[in-house]
Amino acid sequence: MPELPEVETLCRQLRRVIANREILSVEILDPRLGAVEGLTGRKITAVTRQGKAVEMKLDNDARLLLHLRMTGKMQWQRAYQAVPPHTRFIIAFSHGRLLCIDTRRFATLAIKADGSSQAFVKEPLLDFRTEELYKIARVKKLPVKSFLLDQRWIAGIGNIYACEILHEVSINPWRPVCGVSLREWRKIERATKVILEKAITCRGTTVSDWRDLFGRKGQYQHELKVYGREGLPCLRCRGHIQRLRLSGRGTYFCPSCQKK
Ligand SMILES: [Zn+2]
Repeated sequence: MPELPEVETLCRQLRRVIANREILSVEILDPRLGAVEGLTGRKITAVTRQGKAVEMKLDNDARLLLHLRMTGKMQWQRAYQAVPPHTRFIIAFSHGRLLCIDTRRFATLAIKADGSSQAFVKEPLLDFRTEELYKIARVKKLPVKSFLLDQRWIAGIGNIYACEILHEVSINPWRPVCGVSLREWRKIERATKVILEKAITCRGTTVSDWRDLFGRKGQYQHELKVYGREGLPCLRCRGHIQRLRLSGRGTYFCPSCQKK
């Protein structure tokens, strides 16, 4: 599933390719998406990320919101190429076309008429709000990893980066989040920023189907310290990385340096 670094990568690439370009046509191939009208002839004036969603602002102040969900990806075709299987919609420009390819069909596309941006305030890169998170968390008993994954508190962290962040700060993913001290929250903030920024420069993590706008794999999978490393030695303490399920998600951690 695309997480913050993958969606940010996509936004940066989309900005280079489609900003200030006029939409010639929109073709919806999957009826499940519903009708998306009023795009033809409009220019895209800005592309920004809202949590894990891509927001494209139009020259009439409307906004096109794209959420990739589980398996959605966007592909840019400069010259004519065949339409790949599982393509759900195509937006054509004079210099190429943008395709959404999505095997599981959970991606959504919606047009919002008003110009006001969605109030997404829990952006971990720009606005981590460490003390506020500490206050919310200290009365909650759920595991710290589940808290990091909850998009109401922090937008954009998914399973892979949550495992990496907790390993970086030596916190056990199952520890009740009420037991995370303010000092540890500051460490989580630092680790989150460093890991997500680095993953963005690597154009995301490709462990299964993530590809960027130009069909290339990300590179952060080569930087992962715990995720996907079950049975291998911990790069910090030489303990053995384990994989267990937490709320149905494969959770990788080092039982030696993430004891509690
Ligand atoms: Zn370790």
